Amino acid sequence: MPRPIEALIHTDALAHNLRRVRAAVPDARVWAVIKANAYGHGIERAYAGLRDADGFALLDLDEAERIRALGWRGPVLLLEGAFEARDLELCSRLNLWHVVHHDAQIDWLSRHKTQQAQRVFLKMNSGMNRLGFTPAALRSAWARLDALPQVDEISLMTHFADADGARGIGHQVAAFEAATRDLPGERSLSNSAATLRHAQAAGVSADWVRAGIMSYGSAPDFPEHDIAHWQLRPAMTLRAQLIAVQSLQPGDSVGYGSSFVAEQAMRIGVVACGYADGYPRLCPTDTPVLVDGVRTRTVGRVSMDMITVDLSPVPLAGPGSEVTLWGHGPQDSLLPIDEVAACAGTIGYELMCALAPRVPVRMA
Ligand SMILES: *Cc1c(COP(=O)(O)O)cnc(C)c1O
Repeated sequence: MPRPIEALIHTDALAHNLRRVRAAVPDARVWAVIKANAYGHGIERAYAGLRDADGFALLDLDEAERIRALGWRGPVLLLEGAFEARDLELCSRLNLWHVVHHDAQIDWLSRHKTQQAQRVFLKMNSGMNRLGFTPAALRSAWARLDALPQVDEISLMTHFADADGARGIGHQVAAFEAATRDLPGERSLSNSAATLRHAQAAGVSADWVRAGIMSYGSAPDFPEHDIAHWQLRPAMTLRAQLIAVQSLQPGDSVGYGSSFVAEQAMRIGVVACGYADGYPRLCPTDTPVLVDGVRTRTVGRVSMDMITVDLSPVPLAGPGSEVTLWGHGPQDSLLPIDEVAACAGTIGYELMCALAPRVPVRMA
């Protein structure tokens, strides 16, 4: 028997979440963002649930090749554009649309030999200060692109820094609109948080939204809102089994550093999942976990291959009992990845992306 741990990818949840994107922005087309191996879900598996999207947005050229290899003929967008001149050959061969965010990318385009003019998304830096042309530089970049025979259509995009938080998007939308008002072309502004929280704001849904995390069933603004609030469903389950049980007496400790000490007699379950599987080592005692679908908590330190859990609420649990680290458990039980991530001081995105290669993944 293989070690009893696996990840499940829920195709039906992906499809449900995509419908939630559409319901939030009925007039927009939807990029399903599948960078980072579809946030750890696997490009091929994610495609099975997200194939009703209008396009796929990603970063790595090999991921673009994989989505084309699956038979996807619709739009594919490289969110960071070309990394070197040669990349444009693949853009031509696979008909990839690409972001242009700095001058060298325009130089490469001007020297690119192609039969087929390419579609580009010109990115404006509206305040995030990561990628894109400043408002002052945008117009000359647009004019340069417009003059190139290698370029077909120019669309405009920007990315929000605070769509999930208190500052919001108003200042960035204003900067974008002021700089692009009289430029033609389709617009793409919103990520998941803007799609869920700011879809009513004028111009925000634009022509294309870029939905990443919400497609995978994590709330971009947890803990202010959870997936129940946004009616999203987890697309990834990480589950394992108990491989041992220990009975502790008051004063007995558990695991490395003896960080948890029992105050009363209790049973402890040992789970076949540790940080080498992608479960965060930073999760402290009291991180939620489901055993046989019953909510309980971790106790003691996360080790490489094991964690230990309090079996007090599940007296019948023993070796072989099912443990849900996040996602869907038995009897319709649910543990949002966002809750586990928050205990580790991080976000659902990071946990999904960090699912370790040694964990077998299945479609559910
Ligand atoms: C990753 C990414 C997104 C998706 O963000 P989510 O918060 O996961 O929805 C959108 N736009 C760009 C440019 C990105 O890099």
